[in-house]
Amino acid sequence: MSTTTTTTTTTHADAVRHDVINPATEQVVTTIDLVGVEETDAAVARAVEVGPAWRAVSPADRAMLLRRFADAVEAATDDLAALEVTNSGHTIGNARWEVGNVVNVLRYYSAAPERLFGRQIPVAGGLDVTFKEPLGVVSVIVPWNFPMPISGWGLAPALAAGNTVVLKPAELTPLTAIRLGELALDAGIPDGVFTVLPGKGSVVGERFVTHPDVRKVCFTGSTPVGQGIMRKAADQLKRVTLELGGKSANIVFADADLDAAAASAPMSFLDNAGQDCCARTRILVQRSVFDAFMERFEQAMSQVVVGDPGDEATHMGPLISAGQRETVRGFVEGAADAGDAPVDVAFRGAAPEGAGWWYPPTVVLPRSTQDRVWREEVFGPVVSVMAFDDEADAIAKANDTAYGLSGSIWTGDVGRAIRVARGVEAGNLSVNSHSSVRYSTPFGGFKASGIGRELGPDALDAFTEVKNVFINTEA
Ligand code: NAD
Repeated sequence: MSTTTTTTTTTHADAVRHDVINPATEQVVTTIDLVGVEETDAAVARAVEVGPAWRAVSPADRAMLLRRFADAVEAATDDLAALEVTNSGHTIGNARWEVGNVVNVLRYYSAAPERLFGRQIPVAGGLDVTFKEPLGVVSVIVPWNFPMPISGWGLAPALAAGNTVVLKPAELTPLTAIRLGELALDAGIPDGVFTVLPGKGSVVGERFVTHPDVRKVCFTGSTPVGQGIMRKAADQLKRVTLELGGKSANIVFADADLDAAAASAPMSFLDNAGQDCCARTRILVQRSVFDAFMERFEQAMSQVVVGDPGDEATHMGPLISAGQRETVRGFVEGAADAGDAPVDVAFRGAAPEGAGWWYPPTVVLPRSTQDRVWREEVFGPVVSVMAFDDEADAIAKANDTAYGLSGSIWTGDVGRAIRVARGVEAGNLSVNSHSSVRYSTPFGGFKASGIGRELGPDALDAFTEVKNVFINTEA
């Protein structure tokens, strides 16, 4: 099934017309049909049907097809990046990086079909070997904040391991995923092996979870939706990978290079307008350098350019939707329904006025670790700053959260860096930098930030079952 066909000729009763909006202008970019349960079932049936043939493609040929897919995506860099700027408000620089990430992930996992090694285990009376078998049909459910990379992290290792894939982009941001589906077909990935189904979470996403032929749900999104998926998946003992929310700490010790720590702090929470599960939204600064850090941080914040995401000079674009902006505003100004008061704003940047869902970069000083802005994921350009006393206090405050996705540690003492990195309960830590995601290293969360790991050498284990075979040599 071509994604173009899927999205333009739906005729079933449950199809819904859906306006895709540019968050920087509030203009309608295009209108698509969201698919319903019937089309989802048809795509899953097709994925089941073509599964044996895809599994039978020789490892070298499957690798070649993935490399061709990567080449097609790379050749479409400008188109895909422009689509993401328009659909998601991502800055053009980020959007190009995101296309490059899909290319890199496809190329990295194109090496996998020929290296999907099993083991030979010494046993009495015969030969014992293991195989890594594909699961069958794998579903990938993508959030709106990083439509392209998160699609790639699921689809590339899943296809490499011999699975067929159905993928649902978020309602707000379907356009680049639809294009990736078309590029896969252009590159020679057989029809039905990878199908993009733009639709609602409550319709298509739910159906992925309840459909008996879907063997795995690879979900990235909010923690409550992930919890619901895991509960329902239990009915069929369906495999899940969950990449969920975050509330990551950026810990700055007194012995750190304060200039570097302060200069890098703004984009550690403002990248993608703060709509980043790895955003360092809690800055912990050792008390003795708190004022010195804040002075430098304010200076760095004044350099951040918020505006037209298509402009090469822009650092931060708009939020994804009016609703998201209201949620973010509620954390700062107080939300009546959450019963909280406004928080103290230390300083904030500027944002455009008029059309577009803009919100200024904002630095707040929570009064206690119980404040909602300190505890909950804001998913917007808001950071909380708090002082700590010593290493033990820093680790305790960093871990005083339900989440455990990322974090940064700024210090000149390598021993402390390692001690603190080992002490913080998070899946991805970075010393004297804010890196979280590399396609060649594992990514995922502790605690309420998720279950399982994506990317890196081990992701294939999440898309395969181990089969043990004993061959009697004594017969
Ligand atoms: P969301 O949970 O609302 O939606 C995510 C996806 O799930 C969407 O495609 C949505 O349509 C679908 N969905 C919604 N209800 C569903 C249901 N009942 N069954 C199946 N699918 C359903 O999240 P969002 O608002 O799109 O994304 C923001 C969240 O994603 C944040 O919490 C963020 O931290 C998280 N996130 C995590 C990572 C990570 O890797 N850990 C990466 C990016 C975003």
